[in-house]
Amino acid sequence: MSGAGVLYVVATPIGNLEDISARALRVLREVALIAAEDTRHSARLMQHFGIPTPLVACHEHNERDQGNRLVERLLAGESLALISDAGTPLISDPGYHLVRQARAAGVTVVPVPGSCALIAALSAAGLPSDRFIFEGFLPARSSARRQRLQALSEEPRTLIFYEAPHRLLESLEDMRELFGPERQVVLARELTKTFETLKGAPLAELCAWVATDANQQRGECVLLVEGWQAPLGEESVSAEALRVLDLLLADLPLKRAAALAAEITGVRKNLLYQQALERQKDRD
Ligand code: SAM
Repeated sequence: MSGAGVLYVVATPIGNLEDISARALRVLREVALIAAEDTRHSARLMQHFGIPTPLVACHEHNERDQGNRLVERLLAGESLALISDAGTPLISDPGYHLVRQARAAGVTVVPVPGSCALIAALSAAGLPSDRFIFEGFLPARSSARRQRLQALSEEPRTLIFYEAPHRLLESLEDMRELFGPERQVVLARELTKTFETLKGAPLAELCAWVATDANQQRGECVLLVEGWQAPLGEESVSAEALRVLDLLLADLPLKRAAALAAEITGVRKNLLYQQALERQKDRD
């Protein structure tokens, strides 16, 4: 939109202050205003880099109202930067509503990429990185967390979670139970900071290690879990493929549902056809 300002979505460090880009610093200096998750926290960062740009709060509790005001300023021609406390805004952090509102108003939104804990962790974990899923934080309540993990137990892609240190052990123990003790997991803790730790082990071993070393239950952490693999010699159908099959079976003839499910999930058509037959038998 001509005449409107630009909303820059700027990544800040997740620990090591050297991890901010030259472009991020220039943008933060040049914009009229910085929308920050916690202005007191970000004021220290700006002070460190000698950036005098004014800060305004934009967090999960005021984001919708603040978003309207910020979009008005953007439309009036001011350029703004959005930052969060650490890493990339919107990634388990506020900013989604502001970005939506700005884009809906026709404002140009420009990413200024940089640190992101999940990507930093994945880049050094040594787990398959060609396909992965990011699950953010698991539910705090045990039953909801276990339900979520159960739904993910046959997910073939590398799984990435953020976790709070005081829940780390509980989550690992639930994973050990629901994913099995042998499944490989990597704990990436305090990335880019003094006590940076990247430890990979089977779930049973990592649980025991974390349980006996209280230091591992401090600081910030990312958990990366190897994706599910079909047991050797046995061709199985993942829970996700069966879910797709069930959805299609509700509306389509058996053969067509199996063929479509195969196309969507990549599972062999014959295997899904057999599953569909068994499901039909169970229903009759
Ligand atoms: N927006 C951030 C990003 O781009 O990664 C994430 C913000 S989220 C509120 C904070 C969580 O990210 C922490 O609880 C932790 O799981 C992960 N995290 C952030 N900094 C980290 C670090 N230095 N080392 C490991 N995990 C980190």
